[in-house]
Amino acid sequence: MSLQVNLRLLEKGTLRVDGDIPASELAPEFHDELMQLVHPVEYDLEVERQPDGLLVTGTLRTHVDCECARCLKPFVLPVQVDDLSRLALLEAADGEETDEVLPVDGDFADLTPVVREDILIALPTNPLCSPDCRGLPSKGEVREPHVREQAGPNTAWSALDKLKL
Ligand SMILES: [Zn+2]
Repeated sequence: MSLQVNLRLLEKGTLRVDGDIPASELAPEFHDELMQLVHPVEYDLEVERQPDGLLVTGTLRTHVDCECARCLKPFVLPVQVDDLSRLALLEAADGEETDEVLPVDGDFADLTPVVREDILIALPTNPLCSPDCRGLPSKGEVREPHVREQAGPNTAWSALDKLKL
């Protein structure tokens, strides 16, 4: 587990943690028809002890294999979180059950949930190969010129021309 911080060292001051975490380890349950988390997520974080938890700040960087929601073209989308800032609790408040508490094992707290949450929030709802992607050509739309040039004389088009004569 690469994303663990030593709570004893944090007593003495801010810790910097950087490295990368495989997508399979970060979000094994992630599933989306148009996006695949297959590349490692690079993290560069500062962790500071607070009375009720850990203040985590820094940046995350990865890229995601996508399929365009409009034209279905595969493309790679860079995903970056520049201003991560999150207070991760180490203990739930009395009588409260919450998922927002970091897993702690002995002296080590695991920051994986913080990174996972911020990367998932940064993903688009509908990935597009470009902001002005016009999608698949609709039926009846004029074909691309190079497609027509490739067509030989015995195509359906020339057959249609003959019918007109
Ligand atoms: Zn597209």
